Amino acid sequence: MAIISSFSEFKLNKQLLTAIGDVGYSSPTEIQVKSIPAILGGNDLVGIAQTGTGKTAAYLLPLLMKLKYAQGSDPRGLVLAPTRELAIQIKSHCDQFAANTDLRVAALYGGTGMKPQIAQVEPGVDLIIATPGRFWDVYKSGAFASKQIKTVVLDEADRMMDMGFMPQLRKILELLPMKRQNLLFSATFPDKVRSLSQEFLDYPVRVEVTPQATTAETIKQVLYEVPNFKTKLNMLQHLLLDDHVQKAILFVKTKDTANNLWKFLSRKQVGEARVIHSNKDQNSRLKAIRDFTEDEVRILVTTDVSARGLDISMVTHVINFDVPVLYEDYVHRVGRTGRAKQEGTAITFATPAEVYHTRKIEELINLKIPTELMPKSVEVTETGYDEKQEMAREIDSQRKKEDPTFQGAFHEKKKKQQGRKKRR
Ligand code: AMP
Repeated sequence: MAIISSFSEFKLNKQLLTAIGDVGYSSPTEIQVKSIPAILGGNDLVGIAQTGTGKTAAYLLPLLMKLKYAQGSDPRGLVLAPTRELAIQIKSHCDQFAANTDLRVAALYGGTGMKPQIAQVEPGVDLIIATPGRFWDVYKSGAFASKQIKTVVLDEADRMMDMGFMPQLRKILELLPMKRQNLLFSATFPDKVRSLSQEFLDYPVRVEVTPQATTAETIKQVLYEVPNFKTKLNMLQHLLLDDHVQKAILFVKTKDTANNLWKFLSRKQVGEARVIHSNKDQNSRLKAIRDFTEDEVRILVTTDVSARGLDISMVTHVINFDVPVLYEDYVHRVGRTGRAKQEGTAITFATPAEVYHTRKIEELINLKIPTELMPKSVEVTETGYDEKQEMAREIDSQRKKEDPTFQGAFHEKKKKQQGRKKRR
């Protein structure tokens, strides 16, 4: 079998190929090469692939190809995901891929009012991306009929099983027409997922890709636990004044931080920098990338979204000014250095509120990122009241995620303060 090395070799239409180009993907990943033709061929499919392998596009692209354009009023495709975060993430991928089509895509998930979601599907919808519970509730409200759903995707099936969604999945799958295409994606394939696939899938093609691209061995990784934003700036300045940092990409979470950091760097005269994020127009982004690639400047500040698909080599340092919240982004960020067997260093700054995410990243990459102490010469600035509160809130919400019965230290403190006020 010839190896597919370009998206144009799949039987995808022009609208999708243009969108793939716009997103910045240059060639398909292994799971995409293995899944897209099988799905387009109408097979049921079991895909064993972790987050970070490109599994979302592996099923969304052929699914969108099948749906093609807006048609009728009831959904024809359904993607079920275990969590609201994943549903939102899939929807945002989908919006990018479907940008040149008139397909109507709705995301239904809990934790937010149902009415706007009902209003989204009622005028007509082609594809629904949902968590099982909310899908059921919206269906029960009578907002759409289920008999046109001819393709269903169960994403992160192992997590759905772990979260006890089996009874709900059964109920939902019973609503769907018997003759349909089923796609199941899962990072692992325990017995529970095996029986799910045996129960619902029809002679599935099984594709598997090797686990998560681990961070290359040529990359030295370091973590600095830094108390607050200002100290991060001090630490950054210290690093950038070091000659070893010949060419660095600075990753930040938001466009605002990107802009602020750029201003900070200009003020501190540590060397010229360029900044790219989604609010910059295409020309200035291209110019920034060119200046950086051609060594006109040694620092590029960017958000994750803007950095996707960039192939910039010879980067000596990746600096994660913020810890990425999408954990697989860590792998993508770090992969920007140490390319093609060159050595590289990836440095991560983590505030107390971000340490939780670094632990999750370590689980994903199966590696403990070595922690180093900040050099003594770096000034440790005191944490301001607002930042302290914000971090306390963030830490509380992380602990609640791990233990839903946890009331929260922040919550406690607030209650005590309120009590004190009342007594006064
Ligand atoms: P996923 O495994 O679907 O969560 O995707 C992981 C990341 O890889 C996402 O940031 C995607 O945007 C990105 N991605 C998916 N397919 C490709 C591709 N063919 N080329 C480059 N990046 C990709």
